[in-house]
Amino acid sequence: MSDCIFCKIIDGSIPSVKIYEDENVYAFMDVAPLTKGHTLLVPKQHVKDLFDMPEEVARNLYAVAPKIANAIKSAFNPAGMNTVNNNGAFAGQTVFHYHLHFIPRYDETDGLG
Ligand code: 5GP
Ligand code: ZN
Repeated sequence: MSDCIFCKIIDGSIPSVKIYEDENVYAFMDVAPLTKGHTLLVPKQHVKDLFDMPEEVARNLYAVAPKIANAIKSAFNPAGMNTVNNNGAFAGQTVFHYHLHFIPRYDETDGLG
């Protein structure tokens, strides 16, 4: 989609810090990280949200989630990790290309309570 920020990140016309890429998905650092290592995993196919996601896109995306989580764990050594996905503006979605947040958690000083 021509006016989608994450489609532009996937096609390289907006720069990003890549964590992982294969033919179906792209993972990159969040530009405004909630904690150190905050990463987003997106399908390369433009899918608005979980409600619109074909099963095959979900299979390909969630299949790599453990790999992404472990790569972040190795790089940043967090104490734990939240994975979060907001669907719809009311639920806090601000970019309407599906993305799964990986938010490493450190300790009570990481600011997320
Ligand atoms: P949402 O609120 O939709 O769940 O999350 C959108 C996320 O995308 C936010 O955490 C925000 O910081 C991130 N984001 C928005 N624009 C960009 C961008 O241009 N580059 C990167 N790397 N992240 C972005
Ligand atoms: Zn898109």
